[in-house]
Amino acid sequence: MISVRNLVPAALAVTLAFAATVALAQDSYPSRPVKLIVPFSAGGSTDLVARQIAQEMTVRTGQPFVVDNKPGAGSTIGADFVAKSPADGYTLLLGTISSHATAVSLYPKLPYDPLKDFAPITEITAIPNLIVTSPQNAKLAKAESLDDLVKIAKAQPGALTYASSGSGSSNHLATEQLKAAAGISLTHIPYKGSGPALKDVAAGHVDLMLDVVLSSLPQVKAGRLKALGITSLKRSALLPDVPTVAEQGYPGFEVLGWYGLFAPAGTPSGVLGRLHMEFTAVLRSEKMRATLESQGGPVIASTPTEFSGLIRSEITRWKKVVEQSGAKPD
Ligand code: GLU
Repeated sequence: MISVRNLVPAALAVTLAFAATVALAQDSYPSRPVKLIVPFSAGGSTDLVARQIAQEMTVRTGQPFVVDNKPGAGSTIGADFVAKSPADGYTLLLGTISSHATAVSLYPKLPYDPLKDFAPITEITAIPNLIVTSPQNAKLAKAESLDDLVKIAKAQPGALTYASSGSGSSNHLATEQLKAAAGISLTHIPYKGSGPALKDVAAGHVDLMLDVVLSSLPQVKAGRLKALGITSLKRSALLPDVPTVAEQGYPGFEVLGWYGLFAPAGTPSGVLGRLHMEFTAVLRSEKMRATLESQGGPVIASTPTEFSGLIRSEITRWKKVVEQSGAKPD
C-alpha cells in the first residue's frame, strides 16, 4: 500500500535523480556546438568582437562556438531570436547598447524585454567612436575638424547624410545627440551594421558616420577615411592627433559602444557559471587584452550583477537622449 510516509522518500528520490541529471548536463556542457548570434551584419564591430572571442572559446571548450549573423531593425531581430531560443546555453547573444539599452525607448513595440528575457553573462569592452568621413568626399573636402563639419552642415541644413548600424544603434543615437548639441540637421541613412555602412562612407555614397575605433581605425590608417573627432573624454593613444568631441566645444560628450554576452533568461545557473568562467578567462588572456587594446577598448570582463547595473543605467541615459533628440526608427 502507498502511504504518505512512503511517498516522501519516493519524491525525494525523484528530485535527487533530477538534480543529478541536471548536474551531469552542466558538467558536460558544452557537449555540442554553441551558436553566438550577432545582431548586425558581418564585417562590423559586433561581428569582429564575436569572431575573436568565438575562436578562443572553441579552443578552450573543445566545442565550436559558431558566429551566426542575424542583422536587421537595429539589432532587435537577432536579440529577439535569442530571447525566444531554448534556455540551454547553446544559443547566446553578443548584445550591445542597441539591443539592450536604446531599443526599448526607440521602438514602440519591442518584442522582448531587455532585462527580463536575458541572463547577462559579462560585459566585454567599451570603445569610443570616431567621427569619420571620406577624404574624397566633395561636400566635406574642407572639413578638418568638428567645427568645420558643423559650419558646413549649418550652411545647408539636412543636406549632409550620416550612416549608422541601424535605427537605435549606438552610432545612430550618438549622432542624434551630437546633432542636438551642435544644433545641426543631418539626414540618417540606416544600414544593418557598420561593415556595409563604413564601406559606403569610404566610397562617398554617405557623407559621414560615427563608428567605434575597432572597425573605423583600420580604414583611417589605410587613408580611406579621415577622423574629425573621438567620443571619449580623453584622446586615444591610438590616434593622439585626433581631438575629442569634448575638447572641440562639447564638454562631457562621451559615447562608448559597449559589447556584452547574454543567454536567454532561465538558463541553468551551472551553465551560466561555466560560461562566465570561460568567457572571462578568454577576455583576461594576454592575447585578447592586447587585441582589444589595439582596437580601442579595455577588457572589462564584469560580473553579471555589474553588467546588469550598466544596462539599467544605460537604459535611463538613452531614454533621455531619445526624448531630447526626438530620434525615431527610420
Ligand atoms: N556599436 C554599434 C551598436 O551597438 C555596433 C554596430 C555594428 O556592429 O555594426 O549599435
